[in-house]
Amino acid sequence: MSYNQISSTGAIISATNPPNISSKEIREYIYQALNLHDYTFTWIQKHSQPYQGILNDGEKDINLYIYAWNMSPAYRTNPSEKRIQIQAAVNNVGIDRPISDTEKTIILGLYNSPTGAPLFVAWDTTVNRGHGQKSCYVQIEDVARALTDGIYKTTDRNNAPIYTMTQELLGDYVSLLKSSNTLRIATPATPTTLLSRVKNASRPSRKKRAIRTIAQIQSSINSLTTTEKEVVCKQRIGQGLFKDLLIEKYSCKCALCDIDTKRMLIGSHIKTWADSNDTEKLDENNGLLLCAHHDALFDKYLISFDDDGTLLVSPTLNAAEQNKLHLSDIPVLTVTPEMKPYLAHHRSKLRN
Ligand SMILES: [Zn+2]
Repeated sequence: MSYNQISSTGAIISATNPPNISSKEIREYIYQALNLHDYTFTWIQKHSQPYQGILNDGEKDINLYIYAWNMSPAYRTNPSEKRIQIQAAVNNVGIDRPISDTEKTIILGLYNSPTGAPLFVAWDTTVNRGHGQKSCYVQIEDVARALTDGIYKTTDRNNAPIYTMTQELLGDYVSLLKSSNTLRIATPATPTTLLSRVKNASRPSRKKRAIRTIAQIQSSINSLTTTEKEVVCKQRIGQGLFKDLLIEKYSCKCALCDIDTKRMLIGSHIKTWADSNDTEKLDENNGLLLCAHHDALFDKYLISFDDDGTLLVSPTLNAAEQNKLHLSDIPVLTVTPEMKPYLAHHRSKLRN
């Protein structure tokens, strides 16, 4: 069947629907989009809808809930209509979550644009809540406007705003989103494009991100809710933020070697997360920033350290093993007085 589609030149033509974007691809495109322009995004869970993650927009962490589907033809008399179908089971979870500066929920449809990365459409969460299945519609002509305008605002049948945008603009959209699917942007004295207003209002710079202090990180931890349902979520966020603390403390380099590739570094608890109380869990004195190799040795209690930083090796490792694990390369650890109680706890668990 033919419906109105966006052609490779951006024009509207009658054609078959473009290939579906799989759920896996949808999550990858969202991840890419939210890691542009110095936005940083980390998944908390991407197994079921709403997907969850943390977007840092340069000033704060946003706890983000994401509903996202591939857009298909609406099978109506209007050949230009596209839609996503919100499943009943998902809807019952509660799509109408609160939207604040630090917690947001978005509903996205993705259109497989033949001109490059997919185009995104964002609907209002309040208007589209409700019971049972629900479709969110958009006109293909409005989706195509994202190609020319970057970001474009239209409305649905209930007069609720719909935004269509390129992948480039998704971070800005989330950062600026307030309730009723409107964006926190000022109305300028002289008319200007929506794109320039959005860009001016958001786009974190590296300079802004650099002032994200340990105090800010800790305050975002404290602002997390503590209901039982969110404990797992809190643990993952907490561990992510704990790593951030240690990245600062150790200048993004393994405490025991020269590895400074951020993705290879782990925020390792000296006293484990499970054994620590709430304060200890997020105390940077209870952590070492370690590369994967050194984290594994430390985490499995095959190595530990004396109060003066001298390496202690588990007697379960024979000389040949120790040699192959390059244990003689490990330097004396810098130990501050605040680290000593944690190290004593770790030492007591050294394998023997
Ligand atoms: Zn290392």
